[in-house]
Amino acid sequence: MHEFSVIASIMELVKSEMEKAKASRVLEVQLEVGELSFLSHESLRFGFRALAENERGIEPDGLNIITVPAQVKCRKCDYSGPLTVEDTSLGHLGSPVFQCPKCQGPVEVLKGRDCIVKNLRMEVED
Ligand SMILES: [Zn+2]
Repeated sequence: MHEFSVIASIMELVKSEMEKAKASRVLEVQLEVGELSFLSHESLRFGFRALAENERGIEPDGLNIITVPAQVKCRKCDYSGPLTVEDTSLGHLGSPVFQCPKCQGPVEVLKGRDCIVKNLRMEVED
């Protein structure tokens, strides 16, 4: 499951940020998930909960997923803007192929492919 490896690396990042900030608890992890990352939000939450339960101080229900809409730019015409998942077809190797909604030309993905930790809400004891 791809989502599980994504969550595992997020958890590593959260732990190192916790250490740096000398935080005792992580209350919320804001995660930006691009529309075109094709990650299941349900699986991300499930994976996060499973890993957080074995960690000290990380709130298992603290994952807050923010969806980032796709943004593409066409290489043939001047189109630049959103891309809906319907504009996507699966290529030979099962990897998605993105097409311009206007001219079906190849597009460059500007936004919406990444999955990044945007913010952490931590509690620091002094
Ligand atoms: Zn185009």
